[in-house]
Amino acid sequence: MKAILVNHEYCTGCHACEVACRRELGLGKGEFGIKLTEVGPFKYEDRDDGPDKWEWTWLPALTKACDMCAERTAQGKMPACVQTCQAWCLYYGEVEDLAKKMEGGSRWALLSAR
Ligand code: SF4
Ligand code: SF4
Repeated sequence: MKAILVNHEYCTGCHACEVACRRELGLGKGEFGIKLTEVGPFKYEDRDDGPDKWEWTWLPALTKACDMCAERTAQGKMPACVQTCQAWCLYYGEVEDLAKKMEGGSRWALLSAR
């Protein structure tokens, strides 16, 4: 099964994936195949200063409209959202291969459309 892996440690919240997907699927304004949710910013009062003191995370989620870019991927192309991401924090492939990448310090989310 194919899926999309998100490294949300490095997602900048630029929204470029949303725009690329809307163009790919021909969706109207206010419709999404991938949609960002913003968590934060807020401060953890009981933690020392440093990167863990603050929470400010962007979480891309696939919607019901996502077809995993069936037309593009059938031609051997990357999904539009993955190709557009300048932060290189989206990956497309087989679930088993993507799951192997989910090791180490980054925060990951594995998404499937249907
Ligand atoms: S895989 Fe294609 S259809 Fe799905 S969110 Fe990405 S751009 Fe949109
Ligand atoms: S294009 Fe990449 S960095 Fe920008 S919001 Fe989407 S996943 Fe995050």
